[in-house]
Amino acid sequence: MGEVSGLLFEGQPVAVCRKRCKRVILHVRAGGEIWVSAPRGVSRRRIAEILAERRDWLLAAVETQRARAPKPKRVCEGESFRLAGRALALRFAGGEICAVGDELLVPPGTELSALRAWYVARAQVLFAERVALWAAAIGVTPGRVRAKEQRSRFGSCGIHGDINLCWRLVMEERALVDSVVIHELCHLLERNHSPAFWAQVARFDPQHRAHRAQLNKQSALWDW
Ligand SMILES: [Zn+2]
Repeated sequence: MGEVSGLLFEGQPVAVCRKRCKRVILHVRAGGEIWVSAPRGVSRRRIAEILAERRDWLLAAVETQRARAPKPKRVCEGESFRLAGRALALRFAGGEICAVGDELLVPPGTELSALRAWYVARAQVLFAERVALWAAAIGVTPGRVRAKEQRSRFGSCGIHGDINLCWRLVMEERALVDSVVIHELCHLLERNHSPAFWAQVARFDPQHRAHRAQLNKQSALWDW
């Protein structure tokens, strides 16, 4: 944690972190926040001098990191949304939210939370369908299927066989959704990640490694 240093760089607050380091180190974080690691003995005035000495470098680094930070998703004309592995451009239109061709038609005044609810509802329908289909193929009986708000894991399988899946998977191709569904359903056969488990997964999803790699890449782009 940085202390509230009261130091400003070009009007921007600077966080100072006192550490057992030998010298003062400047960091610019994603979003453009400036953090300074400084040995305990170095005065605020000295830190301010170092900030001034490194002014050009700092300004450039702040600009780079600000540009790199994800822009908040907005419900506006032309904003890009993904569904089933495709990019859709938002367009305002009357009626219900719907995906048509390469467009996501949304009534004017829709909040992002309403759009999220629409995605979650679609995810719920899709997940129920894919879980039913793969459960029959694998020969298992899952419990409830739920589209959940979870970023850390794509899916999970509860002790009573409930299957939870991240709703954002609905943004991705069917093969990637199926890959997660198959993984979770195979936990009804093997409650671990043993070679026996992976052998079951490979029977139904021979490309599971490639699918997981693709999913890791795609999910890094999930920006809302
Ligand atoms: Zn697992």
